[in-house]
Amino acid sequence: MEINLNKISSCQMEEAAKAAYPGECCGILLGKTAKNSGKGEIEVLETREAPNLVQGEQKSTRFEANPLFLYQVEREIEGSGLEIVGFYHSHPDCEAIPSREDTEKMVPGLIYAILSVTADGVVDIRTFTAES
Ligand SMILES: [Zn+2]
Repeated sequence: MEINLNKISSCQMEEAAKAAYPGECCGILLGKTAKNSGKGEIEVLETREAPNLVQGEQKSTRFEANPLFLYQVEREIEGSGLEIVGFYHSHPDCEAIPSREDTEKMVPGLIYAILSVTADGVVDIRTFTAES
């Protein structure tokens, strides 16, 4: 599966990760999927940062605990041609590698972007899928 993060989406994630530092940020990836001849391609075009409800200990994988935010984003993009293609979160002062919990909660077909962020800013952005 090929994943393309455009400039807007990576800038939005970087800003969110820097603003939340040293806490974690998380949000939704919006984009388009093009399925041709079995080889999926996903384009990430925009992101939406999740409201930081749990100050200081918000975790990437808490989306299922916040269905209202997901619902609001679904309503917002209805008819726009965009769809929810995955999620992102930051790892403050940690590598952009999924934790065991991150991996366990990955849903096939969705993209998971992880940003490594330090006091100097975002040092790495990587994307993962349940298949990879
Ligand atoms: Zn994580």
